[in-house]
Amino acid sequence: MKTVEHWIGGKTTGSGRTAPVTDPATGAHTADVLLASVEDVDLAVAAAREAAAEWSRSSLATRTRVLFAYRELLDRHREEIGKLITAEHGKVHADALGEVARGIEVVEFACGIAQLLKGGASHEVSTGVDVREIRQPLGVVAGITPFNFPAMVPLWMFPIAIACGNTFVLKPSEKDPSAALRVAELMADAGLPPGVLNVVHGDKTAVDRLLEHPDVAGISFVGSTPIARYVYETGTRHGKRVQALGGAKNHMVVLPDADLDVAADSAVSAGYGSAGERCMAVSVVVAVGGIADELVAKIAERARSLQVGPGTDPSSEMGPLITAQHRDRVAGYVPQAREQGAEVVVEGAAGSPDDGGHFVGVSLLDRVTPEMDAYRDEIFGPVLSVVRADSYAEAMQLVNASPWGNGAAVFTASGAAARQFEQEVQAGMVGINVPIPVPVAYHSFGGWKASLFGDSHVYGADGVHFYTRGKVVTTRWPAPATRGLDLAFPSNAES
Ligand code: NAD
Repeated sequence: MKTVEHWIGGKTTGSGRTAPVTDPATGAHTADVLLASVEDVDLAVAAAREAAAEWSRSSLATRTRVLFAYRELLDRHREEIGKLITAEHGKVHADALGEVARGIEVVEFACGIAQLLKGGASHEVSTGVDVREIRQPLGVVAGITPFNFPAMVPLWMFPIAIACGNTFVLKPSEKDPSAALRVAELMADAGLPPGVLNVVHGDKTAVDRLLEHPDVAGISFVGSTPIARYVYETGTRHGKRVQALGGAKNHMVVLPDADLDVAADSAVSAGYGSAGERCMAVSVVVAVGGIADELVAKIAERARSLQVGPGTDPSSEMGPLITAQHRDRVAGYVPQAREQGAEVVVEGAAGSPDDGGHFVGVSLLDRVTPEMDAYRDEIFGPVLSVVRADSYAEAMQLVNASPWGNGAAVFTASGAAARQFEQEVQAGMVGINVPIPVPVAYHSFGGWKASLFGDSHVYGADGVHFYTRGKVVTTRWPAPATRGLDLAFPSNAES
C-alpha cells in the first residue's frame, strides 16, 4: 500500500499516524496518508524558516524564472495531475483538467511578480524629500486547503506567496493529498530551492500547530465555514495575518425575461458539476414571477439525462461524492425535504453500500422555502433547490438574508435589472448571465459574510497584498545642513 508522505526541505519524509485514502468511484482503500505530529509541523516550519533568509533576498529575475519554468511543467503534467485528482477526489477527468487550468492561470499571474511588486514613489514631497513605498514578504506562511479542489486551491496560494519572497508550508486535505503533493514536487523540478515550499499532510493536530506556531506569520485557509471561523479566530489570536474562506450557498436568480433554456443549462451545469462539491456551485435557483413551472420542467429534463459514473469513464458527466458518509448525508436531504413540504421533482438515490462507490444521483427540489433544512444547510452535493419568488424584490431579500455571500448570479435580458442586482446583492462574486463567476487570476476570489473571515480575497492583487507588508521610506538628499533643534511635528510646507 502506497504511503503519501510529507515533503519537507525538498525531500519526502515522515512516519507515524496515517489515514486511509480511498477511490470514491469504488470505495477501495488505495493509499495511506501520513498525519503530521506537532514535531513534523515544526520540522516543516523550521525548513521554511531556514530557506526564508535567502529566498526573501532572491532577485525578482530568479523568482520569475522559477515561475515560468513551473508554468511549463504544470502544462506538461496536466493529464497526470488530472488523473491524480480523479483517482482520489472522484470528479470527472474533464472537470479535473479544468481545475488544473485555473490553477495554471494563477501561476501565469505570479509570473508578472516584478510588475506587481513595483510599489509607488513620490518625488519632491518636500524640498529634497522623496517617498518610496515597498512591499516585503512576511516570512513563513501556511496554506490549509479543502478536498474539493486538491490542486487548484493550493495553486491559488503558494505561487503568489513564493513569488512575493515568502516560504510556504502547505497542509492539503488529507482526503485527497496526492495532487497537492505532486504540484509541490514540480516546483522543485522548476528550480525552487529546498525548503521554500513544504507539504505536511494531516488533520486538526497539524492545523492547530500551524495556527499557534510563532514562526508562521500568515495563514491562508479555504474550507467549510465552521473551520474557517475557527482558523481565523485562532490564527489572529496568535498574532497572525489570516484569510479564511468558508462555505457557501449560492443563489441563481432567474428573472421572467431570461432565456429559460440558457438558464436551465446553466443551473444544471453549475448545480451538478463536480457533483455539487464546489464552493461556487449553484445550490438554489430563485424563479421570479410566472416562469417557475417552465423553468423547473426544463431543469428536470436536463437533470434526468445526466450520466453519473466513474470519473475515469469519458461518458460520465458527474462522478461520485468524496466519502460514503458524505454520500449518505447528501442523500438524506431529499426525503427530509419531502417531509418538510418540498416537491421532489427528480430523486437520485444513493448507490447501495454494496456498490462500493460513493455515487448518488442528482436531485431537484421545487417549492423549497427558507425554513427547510435543504435550503438552510450547505449540502455540498447534487441537490438543487428551486425557490419561487413573486418579484425581484422578494428574490433579492431572500439572497441577502442568507448567512453566506460567496457567489450570486442573475439571469436576465435587462441591463438595468442586472445593474441593480450587481449593486444590491451582498456577495463577493457576482455573475450576470454567468452561473459560476469565479474571477480570473488577475482579479481576486472571495466572498462576503460567513464565506470569508478576514479582509483579503485570495490571488490577484489581494493575494500580493496579503503575502506582503508595506513599508514607506522617506529620504532627504542631499543630507541637510543642521538647522538646530526643532521639536515641532515635521510639516512639509515649512521644510
Ligand atoms: P473542511 O473545513 O472540512 O476542511 C478544510 C481543511 O481544514 C482541511 O485541510 C482539513 O484537514 C482541515 N480541518 C478539518 N477539520 C478541522 C478541524 N476541526 N480543525 C482544524 N482543521 C480542520 O472542508 P472540506 O470538507 O475539505 O471542503 C469543503 C468545504 O470547503 C465546503 O464548505 C466548501 O464550500 C468550502 N470551500 C470554500 C471555498 C471558497 O473559496 N470559499 C473553496 C473551496 C471549498
